[in-house]
Amino acid sequence: MKHISLRYVSDVDFSEKLDKIKAEYDENNYKNILFHIYSGVLDEQLLIGIAKKISGQFETDMIAGTISAGEIKNGRLMDRGVLVSVMMFESADVRLCRFENAGGREEQYGRDICTLADSTRHCKALELMLPGTNLHTRILFEEISKCRRDIQVFGGYAGGHSMESSEHFVFDHNGIYSDMIFLVVYAGEDFHISVDKSVGWQTLGVPFKVTKADENRLIEVDGRPAAELYEKYMQIEVDENFAEETFEFPLMADLDGEELLRHTITAEEDGTLLLAGYVTEGMDIYLCYGAPADIVKKVDVRLMDVCRFQPQAILLYSCSVRKSFWEDFVNIEMQPFQRIAETAGFHTWGEVNRDRKNGNVLEYNITLMSIAMREGEPENSEPEHVHVDDSVLKGQASLIKRLTKLVYATTTELHKAYKDLSVMNDKLQEMADRDGLTQLYNRRKTDQLIDSCYEELKASDSIAGLLMLDIDYFKKVNDTYGHAVGDETLKTVAGIMKELIADTEGAFAGRWGGEEFMILLPDADADKAYDLAEKIRIKTMEHPFVGAGRVTVSLGTVSFDGSCELKDVFVAVDSALYEAKRSGRNKVVKA
Ligand code: GH3
Ligand code: MG
Ligand code: MG
Repeated sequence: MKHISLRYVSDVDFSEKLDKIKAEYDENNYKNILFHIYSGVLDEQLLIGIAKKISGQFETDMIAGTISAGEIKNGRLMDRGVLVSVMMFESADVRLCRFENAGGREEQYGRDICTLADSTRHCKALELMLPGTNLHTRILFEEISKCRRDIQVFGGYAGGHSMESSEHFVFDHNGIYSDMIFLVVYAGEDFHISVDKSVGWQTLGVPFKVTKADENRLIEVDGRPAAELYEKYMQIEVDENFAEETFEFPLMADLDGEELLRHTITAEEDGTLLLAGYVTEGMDIYLCYGAPADIVKKVDVRLMDVCRFQPQAILLYSCSVRKSFWEDFVNIEMQPFQRIAETAGFHTWGEVNRDRKNGNVLEYNITLMSIAMREGEPENSEPEHVHVDDSVLKGQASLIKRLTKLVYATTTELHKAYKDLSVMNDKLQEMADRDGLTQLYNRRKTDQLIDSCYEELKASDSIAGLLMLDIDYFKKVNDTYGHAVGDETLKTVAGIMKELIADTEGAFAGRWGGEEFMILLPDADADKAYDLAEKIRIKTMEHPFVGAGRVTVSLGTVSFDGSCELKDVFVAVDSALYEAKRSGRNKVVKA
């Protein structure tokens, strides 16, 4: 395959360049051709005109145009121009599909795309060019995620140069669209593609919980207005400079271990943050910091892979925030790719990729996505390795470097302390709920669990069984064999109860006091409760207790539902137990 990128300067110049490419295309008998147009210029007539020119000359509709926040030609930022990338394929099957009026049809289109991908022979990748924020792309992505796991998915969201830009459209030779999706399907036995993203931003401090969110709107964090995060920890107030001041410190959302960076587009008066990607309630989020040295290190890792892959064409879809972050150094992380193969692309308003762990198609921010393509097998067994030239960063901002190091080091320690603390907290909570001798739930916890079971019964039409157990003549055990044997006896009885309810989901035993216990049995009628009580009674009677020899127990049982008063249930089970004692012990009485 061959990749050529050209900048539109004038009609005459553009025509000449197209003529040359057309000649080469015809001469070499290429099978397919694909045009991407990335434009930082918002002149609709001009853009449609350029696309028309291509369409006419090549008699093709394989043209996907997008508004961009920065155009990347030969691995360099070509600001505010119109860039055309031409890809010519020898054997690959490349198709461009248009999904019109996508607003409201995201689910349907997602399914269609998934079906198309799965039914395409040797389908290797899907590229999505999206008009931007007015589509529910999450729904679209959920459906596309169901396609075969080995199919790569990449793409970008359209959006203009300024942070507040509302120009989110894609275009081709027939018009411009704010709700059309371009889909490119790359297929072919001999076509190979490698897609990955580099991030490099690091988390700072402990996680916060998203407590209120609505798609791209982060409303509350830990129950407080989201903007307070920045006010409290970064001393950044909500004002007109908020977005600019915070892009160095974006948020990282943790989605099942997948790190999704999110930067702020605007902050509202009430402290709601409008983010460049969605977040959901219950997610952990972190404040992040981008340190140049760490970022280029991540890019270097990716460069190794791309070198090994030996592509014939590279696309770079990079976040507009990276462009703002790097300022004058923006080319540092893109240029090395051009040394491997012809590199073109754009700065996006959001990057699309599949997460490695689950295969979910997700929207990312602040990533540099590199797409390497090749037809046929790699030529070199030992390709030359290309690295980021970070010499311009050397000696730069050494104070910041040290401070960042300090923050990382303390953050790591903090993370560990935070983890230890929460493990300890769980342990303490567990200890507070348990009886020290038998390890059964204590009275407080037992009471609480019976209460919440009762509340559930009230909301449903199920029933539950309650058993109350008391050891017979236990005072005698203590008096005859000593308190230690008494303690062992209590533990053994607790063990028998635990064993006999182990297979019943939701059942539990608690120590009610002294030598009295309660057992709760979900979904149990009077007979079931009685049967379990009998099993416990018999097993205890037959057990050879160390020291105490023979021990027996008496039980009262009851079955109840949400229509009973809970206090009456306790009275009933207590009376049944009393009756068991009165009528001779080593007995079960049903209330
Ligand atoms: P009944 O058959 O009527 O239940 O007679 P009982 O002797 O079992 O009943 P009583 O209530 O008279 O005695 C209960 C005894 O349980 C008294 C108390 O010393 C003993 N006890 C309570 N908690 C513990 C404990 O944690 N360890 C030991 N070893 N004994 C305990
Ligand atoms: Mg008692
Ligand atoms: Mg007793």
